[in-house]
Amino acid sequence: MDTLLNILLQAETKGVAIGHFNFSDFLMLKAIFEAARDLRVPVVVGASEGERKFIGVHQAAAMVRSFREQFDFPIFLNADHTHSLPGAMEAAEAGFDWIVFDASALPFEENVRQTKAAVQVLKSLRPEILVEGEIGDIGTGSEIHDVAPDLQRGLTTPAEARQFVEETEVDTLAPAVGNMHGMLKSMIAGTAKKRLDIERIRAIKKEARGFMTLHGASGTDDGDLREAITAGITTVHINTEARVAWRRGLDGALAKQPNQVVPYKLLPPVIDSIKQVVAARLALFSQGRRARSAS
Ligand SMILES: [Zn+2]
Repeated sequence: MDTLLNILLQAETKGVAIGHFNFSDFLMLKAIFEAARDLRVPVVVGASEGERKFIGVHQAAAMVRSFREQFDFPIFLNADHTHSLPGAMEAAEAGFDWIVFDASALPFEENVRQTKAAVQVLKSLRPEILVEGEIGDIGTGSEIHDVAPDLQRGLTTPAEARQFVEETEVDTLAPAVGNMHGMLKSMIAGTAKKRLDIERIRAIKKEARGFMTLHGASGTDDGDLREAITAGITTVHINTEARVAWRRGLDGALAKQPNQVVPYKLLPPVIDSIKQVVAARLALFSQGRRARSAS
């Protein structure tokens, strides 16, 4: 099977992006896996610190490995937004394929210093592991927010991105380009969309060169996502949209079968609900440059 690095290289060559979806439980993981397998596209699943604490670091790694090995399928595991080096090392040792080391809340120079140290330590533990760093402010919490944060102040500049990638030697960079974690109520209702700064993405790609990950993409305009991928985004993170689908699926299942107590009879609609969202996003990300310019 291809390595994660090869899969990112191929995505870049083809002008497509890899979908990254977070999971908090087995239903979400199963739904993400099934959607990717139906579409025959590689996929990355992510577990943030909170999600890892709930699932268990080793349990998350074992579940993902079980899908990868049994089905010989390119599903990879990312330790999303890891704020401490011990937490990053624990995930690396448990078998995670990718670590997002997130020191973006610190001043730039301190972020560079800590991320560089994390890259060195993590690569010495597992040379093949990918490490991502983050600069700029994209908010926290993949949840439903009442008010929009002021994203303008925390946007990543191309010069910063270049310096950050050169000094830290991260494999992938997560910039702030109009993206934000979580969704506003208006985005859940579908009356508003997140918009991306495509020119900034293109300029950052030109300066920083490495792979770029778009975090907080739930609720983003489809056209902007297509253009962002063309401009240099290699991986797109979706979390809140799948969480909303999980909740809606669960509400619907409970309402439909109020007396049902058998989990495997009650829960399949939850998987279907998540699967639909994941499949739609994966289809968009894997369209490729030619299909995008034709549409
Ligand atoms: Zn994120």
